[in-house]
Amino acid sequence: MPPEILLIAPLPDFITQPLAERYTVHDYYHTVDKSGLLAAVGERITGIVGVGGSVVGAALADRLPRLQIISVHGVGYDGVALDYCRARGIAVTNTPDVLTDDVADIALALVLMTSRGLLIANRALHAGDWARGARTLTTKIGGRRAGILGLGRIGKAIAARLVACGMEIGYHGRAPQANVSYAYHGSLMDLAAWCDYLIVACPGGNATRHLIHAGVLAALGSTGTLVNIARGSIVDEPALIDALEKGIIKTVGLDVFEHEPTVPAKLLAMPQVVVLPHIGSATRETRGAMGQLVLDNFEAHYAGRALVTRVV
Ligand code: NAP
Repeated sequence: MPPEILLIAPLPDFITQPLAERYTVHDYYHTVDKSGLLAAVGERITGIVGVGGSVVGAALADRLPRLQIISVHGVGYDGVALDYCRARGIAVTNTPDVLTDDVADIALALVLMTSRGLLIANRALHAGDWARGARTLTTKIGGRRAGILGLGRIGKAIAARLVACGMEIGYHGRAPQANVSYAYHGSLMDLAAWCDYLIVACPGGNATRHLIHAGVLAALGSTGTLVNIARGSIVDEPALIDALEKGIIKTVGLDVFEHEPTVPAKLLAMPQVVVLPHIGSATRETRGAMGQLVLDNFEAHYAGRALVTRVV
């Protein structure tokens, strides 16, 4: 009998079909009576497939007594209770590296869209405004300072792109990194005060919740731009809206939100704000590579081999 796995997130056919060919897949995400499904099959489930935002805590895992592996289709695993998994000996895998370039491209796009007013210009053209008169001049990014919160795989790929655009890079993380030439800032407040663009690229979860609060936004200042491609939980969204309304910061570019898929109406109403629906890794190529890693990790696990990209 093939292993039985629980699908707890919506994933495209090119991932769910190969999964269904190898395993007995129970679609928990689309099942209305989730408790009934767990009562019927929970005893037999040995694997879970989720996405970056999926929550797997004790409430779900306690009902899966034979659970062996949680495979996250995404690099962020902040929704998975890692200590619980360690205590029960449940393996956790993710999909690092294959999505790095795409997410960094979106960060670069958000820097350009906010600085150069690309959406405002595009909307003006659609409205037939070109012939009607002058357009507002925007801001050159070359020569400006980008501060990166979380200089990991994606943070470094963002930095490389911004260096190519002539920007100066500084960063903040929990410690300075060896073999990195960018200036380390020992506190996030210092980084925010130093930079023109504050770019969030650290993991989500309790440790980073609301790291970007009203004080950090005040330090970024009225000519500063915030870009977040990491997790919505890292930014205090009401404080961000307040800072935009009062001109405490200039603008923001967001791919992620605190309560996805909800985007606050006040953000949508501000023309200078650029918002995207969490599309950092959403290319066919990258989603395919992420799906392959999910399959490879399951295959390795059920064959008793070392996992390809193990978190726990
Ligand atoms: P990574 O290589 O692990 O890098 C994370 C960086 O964050 C590290 O440099 C780490 O540096 C820093 N960091 C960790 N905890 C921190 C803290 N408490 N305060 C400050 N810095 C901290 O991860 P990655 O592959 O670059 O991915 C980063 C995040 O991007 C993911 O966790 C995910 O949430 C997000 N993401 C978003 C999308 C999207 O579609 N928008 C797609 C993929 C990933 P130190 O250890 O030195 O602190």
